[in-house]
Amino acid sequence: RGISKYSTASAIEEPVSPPVQVNYTQLLINGQFVKAASEKTFPTLDPRTGDVIAHVAEGDAEDVNRAVASARKAFDEGPWPKMAAYERQRILLRFADLIEKHNDELAALETWDNGKPFEQAAKIEVPMLARLMRYYAGWADKIHGLTVPADGPYHVQTLHEPIGVTGQIIPWNFPLLMYGWKIGPALACGNTIVLKTAEQTPLSALLASNLLHEAGLPPGVLNVISGFGPTAGAALASHMDVDKLAFTGSTSTGKIVLQLAARSNLKPVTLELGGKSPFIICEDADVDKAVELAHFALFFNQGQCCCAGSRTFVHERVYDEFVEKSKARALKRAVGDPFKVGTEQGPQIDTEQFEKILGYIRSGVENGATLEAGGGRLGNKGFYIKPTVFSNVKDDMLIAREEIFGPVQSILKYKDLDDVIHRANSTPYGLAAGVFTQNLDTANTLTRALRAGTVWVNCFDTFDAAIPFGGYKMSGHGREKGIYSLSNYLQVKAVVTPLKNPAWL
Ligand code: NAD
Repeated sequence: RGISKYSTASAIEEPVSPPVQVNYTQLLINGQFVKAASEKTFPTLDPRTGDVIAHVAEGDAEDVNRAVASARKAFDEGPWPKMAAYERQRILLRFADLIEKHNDELAALETWDNGKPFEQAAKIEVPMLARLMRYYAGWADKIHGLTVPADGPYHVQTLHEPIGVTGQIIPWNFPLLMYGWKIGPALACGNTIVLKTAEQTPLSALLASNLLHEAGLPPGVLNVISGFGPTAGAALASHMDVDKLAFTGSTSTGKIVLQLAARSNLKPVTLELGGKSPFIICEDADVDKAVELAHFALFFNQGQCCCAGSRTFVHERVYDEFVEKSKARALKRAVGDPFKVGTEQGPQIDTEQFEKILGYIRSGVENGATLEAGGGRLGNKGFYIKPTVFSNVKDDMLIAREEIFGPVQSILKYKDLDDVIHRANSTPYGLAAGVFTQNLDTANTLTRALRAGTVWVNCFDTFDAAIPFGGYKMSGHGREKGIYSLSNYLQVKAVVTPLKNPAWL
């Protein structure tokens, strides 16, 4: 197993044969792979060619009912929420070991289904999934309540209990990482889960979940449904027996699932939504380093990141040099088959995103931005787009306002800090921001002034397991990862007991 070494990335005509087989295509309910009740399937496609990789069971409301019933039984009857926390910890640790053992298989499946470079999946994302599982294993036996002071003779304690059956809906851009961000805290806290994968990328979560069962997860604790949003996703969000919902995806779908949750049983919802994150290059910046980091901040993962630095604000004194060098960097970007060594950028996920991105590129040109590089598709097969750079982008252009979710960099010029703070915050989103400066005072001013859930200073996309992630404004509710994620999956119960003849209060 491993990636093809026969060429460096550039030619996209001959897709490399993926070094992996698809072994799991059914729904995972109560620890078993089963057909959909309707027996329907849907194709999952290879973004390099548009060809069918496999036909996958298509779950809908009836399958969600079965999965929720199985998760309910596993929660109410145990053993998962009732077992000693260190036993849950051991299962998560064994799972992490198995992820490492199957690193390249998981990564190859992720690349095949999603189109992301294999080297990125194999060296960053799958290892990070193992790291996340160890991180949450570490929390499993450290979750406990408090003893609380009372005004009278009472012993008061809080119990931190699992919420129950959690519904989780994830997107296609980081299938395994989104899976890990969701299941890690839910499992560590003793909940059971019904997870719906994105219809574009159902495969890797099925393989990973099989490994989790091999690690000892009891049946029914994690159920995985492949299927579509308006059917399976909506059934999960509106289910009366789901106690909590966690969603990652677009802001428009976030609004829908929040309404479905409110109209059904008022289940609490965490939302991880879109963004239009500013990346601010200050006048004192080392331009070469800034160009490289801004390029990474936008183009990483084919530009398909909710936190992509998609508004590159550059101080007027370094603007021209920055634009020239960004253009040169984009033209050098290695686009090609994601299984080839050295590929920096693979295809976009599907034809819908591909067309949407090309539409944004056309709008940039029509609105008068200067096209410095790229500007169209690459090759005549699959969903490849040339790394695209626009300069002279104005705040009111569509490409500066809406989430493109593709390899399109928009460079804007600014005068001073007040100007850039105001403009950076003038968006309904607030997911992330980047700041590039050598001046500590400037960094401190910007980090406090920017209204975003993450501010990266002289770095970008640093995603350690303990660093919380989430949005201000319409980028979402709640935080994932880190200590903050646990509260999404815990109920707090106050237990009050009168004290007779206490020695002290
Ligand atoms: P989406 O919001 O449509 O899909 C995300 C998940 O929600 C998928 O599992 C989908 O099946 C499910 N879903 C869709 N409609 C649903 C409904 N009515 N009820 C319940 N679940 C539903 O996002 P997408 O189509 O995959 O991508 C569209 C846009 O979303 C992108 O262009 C980008 O702007 C954004 N996006 C954001 C993130 C992020 O991490 N914040 C990730 C992927 C996509």
